[in-house]
Amino acid sequence: MNIEPISCVDLHCHSTVSDGVLSPEAVAQRAAAHGVNIWSLTDHDEVSGQKIARETATSLGMQYLGGVEISVTWANQTVHVVGLGIDENNPVLVEGLRTTRAGRADRAKRISDNLARLGMPGAYEGVLPFARNPELISRTHFARYLVQAGYCPDVQTVFDRYLSDEGPAHEPMQWAKLASALSWIHGAGGVAVIAHPGRYHYTPTQFGALFSEFKDLGGQGIEVVTGSHSPHQYHEYAQIARDYGFLASCGSDFHSPSESRHDLGSLPALPADLVPAWKSLL
Ligand code: AMP
Ligand code: MN
Ligand code: MN
Ligand code: MN
Repeated sequence: MNIEPISCVDLHCHSTVSDGVLSPEAVAQRAAAHGVNIWSLTDHDEVSGQKIARETATSLGMQYLGGVEISVTWANQTVHVVGLGIDENNPVLVEGLRTTRAGRADRAKRISDNLARLGMPGAYEGVLPFARNPELISRTHFARYLVQAGYCPDVQTVFDRYLSDEGPAHEPMQWAKLASALSWIHGAGGVAVIAHPGRYHYTPTQFGALFSEFKDLGGQGIEVVTGSHSPHQYHEYAQIARDYGFLASCGSDFHSPSESRHDLGSLPALPADLVPAWKSLL
């Protein structure tokens, strides 16, 4: 009898290289301690944590997939596209991510100006110690600063009051084009996956257009089980995966032991009939 080992898969999480609070090594250790055996670190627009993540993962007996979460603008909204199985040394990918990150510092100054107008001065200086990677100041870092400064009780409240996409301090960005992000991922040997589709505020028609365009561009996967989805949404996006013939992915989107709704390795398995996005990459 051929018994397959039970897999615990987590292919979406963040370290201090983007807006997580743990170093890549510490995220790897936490993933392994939580029983994860197929893992990917997917920092926002940045691959500089990949080498140490892979080395630590391998030394702890996990199978590792190179990962990144690319910020994309599609129909005037931000969509996140995860690249799995990428070669992080691919020069076109590295350069594409560098251009995607450019502009974050200026945007941070504009967010700080907005917060000052709302009665919270000095946020740009305040946020800098929270952003361990100076090229990657994110809204999450502002949220942590505003909690520490006593303006809000927790990170979620900051987003709800000020920093969500509709919030009064938010500054929209023109991120990468969908076609560019997919070409970088594919050029680096990876599989592209639409991250947490349940978080986007598109109309049903727009969702259909997004999925079709993504597929036409060679996009293969969609996150079904993610820390950003409710159990109802697991079923909803499992059906989308079936309808469009997408591979299915899963990941906690872990950022911090105290902030994240779901810890590493804590999510249920994918529905058994779906084709896992990592199958062809191991
Ligand atoms: P940025 O790339 O700077 O726009 O920041 C995006 C990050 O902010 C996401 O990856 C999440 O970690 C966090 N974020 C965005 N929207 C929300 C929200 N409504 N609630 C909590 N966190 C959020
Ligand atoms: Mn994030
Ligand atoms: Mn995301
Ligand atoms: Mn994420």
